[in-house]
Amino acid sequence: MAHIRAKGFVLRDQPIGDADRLISLLTSQYGLITAAARGARRSRSPLLASTQVFALSDFELFHHRGRYTVDSAELIEPFLGLHQDIYKMICAAHLAEVFIDGLRDDLPDRASYELWGWSTSELNHSDDPLLTVHTAQLRLLSQTGLKPPLDHCGFCGTNLNGSVLFSYATASVSCLSSKCQSNLKGRRIHLSGGTAACIRHITQAPLPKLFSFTVIEDVRNQLIEFSENWLTEQMEKKYTRLDMLKDLE
Ligand SMILES: [Zn+2]
Repeated sequence: MAHIRAKGFVLRDQPIGDADRLISLLTSQYGLITAAARGARRSRSPLLASTQVFALSDFELFHHRGRYTVDSAELIEPFLGLHQDIYKMICAAHLAEVFIDGLRDDLPDRASYELWGWSTSELNHSDDPLLTVHTAQLRLLSQTGLKPPLDHCGFCGTNLNGSVLFSYATASVSCLSSKCQSNLKGRRIHLSGGTAACIRHITQAPLPKLFSFTVIEDVRNQLIEFSENWLTEQMEKKYTRLDMLKDLE
């Protein structure tokens, strides 16, 4: 039994009962936790805004037998830009789903906490929310051990810095020599030099520089396609939330 304090991002809020909320909270010290917020959906509840999805708040939590309850919460940043634009809201909800699936509960995870903070700040102002989300998603996968191997040819070991051939099924990459290509199993795609360089940037850049890049349309589109396929293959799950964006266009 303990009272704890933690700053955290609300990744998901689910209604329970008449007026309560169950929130998925990403904290720096305690990782991803689930907490009940009693009465948080009442219009006059002090928890109404601070436990709303995407909010960053300062929480006082009660922890007992593996369950958390919100005692109080002070709103730091509501990220209103994500609520006021349906396109951005869908992007953020998708990213939250990937974070929740990719992180293990109750393990301290400062890197993921910081990535979420940088990503939602970027998304809040982004002119290209879809590119922002795929950048953040590829970075999360890389940080959690699912980095696409694009640095060296998987067969001859040569450093790669132009276009490459990539197989999702075997998560392997080949240089363009015919000998190495013949060893690459499964359906292959040809990643342009620009796309491969962009993916390397996303997996390696210091966090404050993660979103500081510009790409031509072809690279943007191939990057997004790569990110979608890599996510599906690695998580063995089809994510459908972003399909809603097509109906909005
Ligand atoms: Zn090779």
